[in-house]
Amino acid sequence: MIGAGPAGAATALFAARRGHRVVILDKESFPRDKPCGEGLMPNGLGTLRALDVAGLTREAPPLNGIQFGLPHAPPAVVAFPEHGGERSGLGIRRLDFDARLVSALDREPRIRFHPRTEVRAVSYAPTGGPTVVTSDGELRAGRVVIADGLRSSLRHRLGWTVGPRPPHRYGIVAHWQVDGPLDPWVRITFADGLEVYEGPVAGRQRMVALLCYQARMREFGGRLEARYREIVEAIRPGLRHAERVGPVYAVGPFWYRASTVAAHGVFLVGDAAGFTDPITGEGIAAGLRQARAVVDALDSPTPERVYREAHRRLTKDPRRVASLLLRLSRTPALVARGIRSHERAPQTLSTLLGIGFGYWGFNRITPREWIRLFTGR
Ligand SMILES: Cc1cc2nc3c(=O)[nH]c(=O)nc-3n(C[C@H](O)[C@H](O)[C@H](O)COP(=O)(O)OP(=O)(O)OC[C@H]3O[C@@H](n4cnc5c(N)ncnc54)[C@H](O)[C@@H]3O)c2cc1C
Repeated sequence: MIGAGPAGAATALFAARRGHRVVILDKESFPRDKPCGEGLMPNGLGTLRALDVAGLTREAPPLNGIQFGLPHAPPAVVAFPEHGGERSGLGIRRLDFDARLVSALDREPRIRFHPRTEVRAVSYAPTGGPTVVTSDGELRAGRVVIADGLRSSLRHRLGWTVGPRPPHRYGIVAHWQVDGPLDPWVRITFADGLEVYEGPVAGRQRMVALLCYQARMREFGGRLEARYREIVEAIRPGLRHAERVGPVYAVGPFWYRASTVAAHGVFLVGDAAGFTDPITGEGIAAGLRQARAVVDALDSPTPERVYREAHRRLTKDPRRVASLLLRLSRTPALVARGIRSHERAPQTLSTLLGIGFGYWGFNRITPREWIRLFTGR
């Protein structure tokens, strides 16, 4: 197992609890931070509960849904749809969340966790299982699961990387300390060529991320922190008196795919298996669900084929919803129409979120609702 982020750590825990012996390697030492919007969507909570990692979500504020809007105008308030008894997401802090997952690895007798161990290559041969080349030597394993994140150097070395696909998008993320009552909403504001995401995390902090296309990244050249602050304060005047805490991270580009997610005893999970864009806030939940699917597949006589099919099922509709939201992000007029349509039919956007979470298919939205969404009438 390579990578102890949410996808890799969850895979290791599920596999160990099914009786597999697991070696898991990560190049970092923990706790380590990860630039992220830190919204765990409600469709990830069931898998998190199945992991049964005590305290993983302690202190994480609930998320009721998303408020979509344009600057200085009232937003569309879209509650998360209820499904399988789950209605809320959680605002988690990755520094803490990932560290708690890693402590669970240390407590599991069938897992050997090696932090500060970089994997340099994974190769496979017709017989004998894949070989893993690490900074400390070579390992042979029956199966290797790679969860080394968005830019996955190991996927690249296997020749399986597709992307990044233009137009390139980037994220700039930091935290703000706020006084006052907890605001349990993710707020997404679409501005000219960028979006501002804001959501609560533990300790009275708010995560504020800017997502933007390459054209706007030039403004940040040599003045990342100052320009980040200017944009946040212009679009979120309420944060003018808040203190920014910790570093400002810049990440991207996004949109990677893998030409295959399983072959020859090597499996990809989480961002390494493909990631469209943070716009759906879905990456952690998706990684947790894939972790469960890959471990289920290991018990079958054809695990690669079973996992490839499960991965396609889990990701197909969420990817289409992400593409739709990206289209909105490039066209503020469409956002304005979507907000207008929400006033008349408040259920449609909530249903669309549910499709993105994999709760139901696109046919849940009627042709009339689609027309209303795109015309505002
Ligand atoms: C700006 C932004 C906002 C986002 N917002 C959200 C959100 O609100 N909600 C959400 O659910 N998702 C969000 N995401 C996506 C989310 O961050 C990812 O989907 C998630 O972190 C993927 O988890 P992972 O375990 O696949 O990879 P990661 O969390 O990236 O973990 C990969 C691990 O692999 C290790 N590693 C890498 N290379 C090697 C190597 N060669 N050898 C050993 N170890 C290695 C790394 O050290 C790391 O610990 C956002 C992403 C971005 C960029």
